[in-house]
This record gives sequence, structure tokens and C-alpha cells, in this order.
Amino acid sequence: MHEGMNLGQPSSLIHWRQRCLVWLAIVGAAHAGTLQRYEAVEPHMGTLFRIELYAPDADRAREAFQAAFARIADLDQALSDYKPDSELNRVCAGGAGLPLKVSNDLYAVLQESLEMSRKSDGAFDVTLGPVIRLWRQARREHHLPDPAQLRAAAARCGYYKLHLDAAAGTAKFDQGGMQLDLGGIAKGWAAEAALMVIGRQGIRSALVAASGDLAFSDAPPGKAGWTIGLGSASRLAMLSNCAVSTSGASEQFVEIGGVRYSHIIDPATSLGLTRDVTVTVVAPHGGQADSLALAVSVLDAARGRRLIEREPGAAAIVTIREGGALRITQLGARVMKK
Ligand code: ADP
Ligand code: MG
Repeated sequence: MHEGMNLGQPSSLIHWRQRCLVWLAIVGAAHAGTLQRYEAVEPHMGTLFRIELYAPDADRAREAFQAAFARIADLDQALSDYKPDSELNRVCAGGAGLPLKVSNDLYAVLQESLEMSRKSDGAFDVTLGPVIRLWRQARREHHLPDPAQLRAAAARCGYYKLHLDAAAGTAKFDQGGMQLDLGGIAKGWAAEAALMVIGRQGIRSALVAASGDLAFSDAPPGKAGWTIGLGSASRLAMLSNCAVSTSGASEQFVEIGGVRYSHIIDPATSLGLTRDVTVTVVAPHGGQADSLALAVSVLDAARGRRLIEREPGAAAIVTIREGGALRITQLGARVMKK
């Protein structure tokens, strides 16, 4: 099961750093001295989005911030399950059996979500909305969801009941009363989408952070990478052109009878996770890192390892707190070494 991990420098991260250093020799010199660091923060998607970037002057930085935050706001309007008039909620209200036209963004997020569902054997499931809503209410009102209601909600879930048609750009539900919830992928996906907007403005070094979901492009000028804390062992890594997401079972929970039920739900049981697990994933893409972190939180050790090892460019640090002890496992280093 979980093996104890040596807390020294993971070799995979050393490799990553070496790649960054090579890159710097070529590109860093051209920028050093001419670029300034700018930072901006805005509330979106129920959290704070922080953007850090290197630009030649304040005007260029401001334009990039505006474009990036506008992109995030648009995505929030499309992907939110909290906003009643979001595209997501309108599509869910569209009923069963009919192909419903969706925007390119929503289509892309749903497609990536379904891929992650298949790869994780349903541990990550964006059709879990009905169950997630019951747990949200339970957290607010401080009680466990009613078992009969939970069973009825679970009967309206299942990623295999959602069908996408790439040519038509449509989504179709097999059943009425289904509800999508993109809470486990949207922030990571939006962080990367914002980063791409910034890149199109000619800004090569930027970081977008949505609390536990980060995406970053080239390293800051003169640096080997963005310095990112990985996992609860506060290990630091120098990273560029990838994404880092953390899912924590203990971040939001309801405690009943001395048991903590996380806001991360195991679709197999419809129950919030009760083990205290934190997963940090490094992966090439934002939505990928976000959804992998959630899936690995749900899966047992062997299946989590398999998922990460099959995912190109991904690695994870899993921290499980049991009593006073921490068990830390690193997954996927072999894949990162290539
Ligand atoms: P946060 O959004 O707080 O950073 P996570 O990225 O771990 O935390 O995502 C948790 C959210 O994902 C939940 O609030 C819920 O909206 C959604 N979710 C919970 N369980 C699942 C699951 N098994 N599959 C897909 N999404 C889930
Ligand atoms: Mg997440």
C-alpha cells in the first residue's frame, strides 16, 4: 500500500529543474533587466484568482490582467453550478434524450471530464451534481444527508449517462434530473485558459493561481522556474510550463459524531471521504492536474498509482494523516524522469 517516502529531493523534480536551466541559458538573458513583476488579484469562481506576470511596462501588464480576468469571468458564467443562469445549469435544465448544443468551452471541459471519468473508473465524475448538492446542504445544516434521498440522488448520477457529439458540439443526458458539477476541474481549467490569454498578449512568464490550482508558463526572467510548494511536507520545486493542483479532503467538511465527511465524494458510496488525504498533482495541463488530484484522493493507493503512472507527464504527492502520523507517497516519478 502506501510506502514511506524519503523526503529528500525527488529525482523527477531535479530533472525538471535541469530542463528549466537549459531553457534559461537561451531565453532568459534576452529578458533579464527589461521586464518587471506585476501582480493582481480578483474574486472569481468562489475563490481568489491571483495572477503574477513579467511585462515590459504597467500598461502591458494591465491589458494582460484585464484580458485574463475577463476570460475567467466568462468561464465562470459558462461552467458555474452556483449561478442559476450559467450555461451549465441551462444545459442541465434542458432535459433528457435530446442533444443540446453547448459552447466550445463547456464542450472541451465536459470532454476532458468524461475522459478522466473513464481513466479513473468513475472516481472523478462530473454527473455527481445531485449527490454533491445534498452534501452541500448537509454541511450548511450540519447533519448527514438522508440515506433515502442520497440513494435517489445517486440514481440520477453516472458519467456513462452523459454523451457528447464532437461533430455536432452537443451534450445529451440519458435521464431527467441529472446535474453536472465541474467543481473538481473548472478552476484548474480556467487557470490554464487565463494563462493562454496572457501568452497571446506576448507575455511569456506568468502564473495564475486559483487557491489550490496553479498554472504557469515560462520561468520568471533570470530564474530556473516558479518556486512552488508541493504537498504538506512543504517541499519546494522549480517548475515551468505546467500546472499544479491540490485537493484536500480536510478543506471543507462536515463533522458528525466525531467523523469528518469531506466535500470530495466517493461516487461508489455517495459518501464524503472520511480519511484525511491531501493530494498534490503536477501535470502538463490545468484541468488535468485539477481532476487528477480529485480522482487520486478518491482512489485507493494502487489504483491512484496506476492512474498517475499512465498519465503522461504527471506526478503526485499523496499525504494521508492517520492519528498523529503522516504517510507520504510519491507517485509517477518514473514518468516524469524521461
Ligand atoms: P476545491 O474546489 O475546494 O479546491 P477540489 O478541487 O478537490 O476542491 O474539488 C472539490 C469539488 O469537486 C467539490 O466541491 C465538488 O464540487 C466536486 N466533486 C466532489 N467529489 C467529486 C467527484 N468524485 N468527482 C467529480 N467532482 C467531485
Ligand atoms: Mg481541485
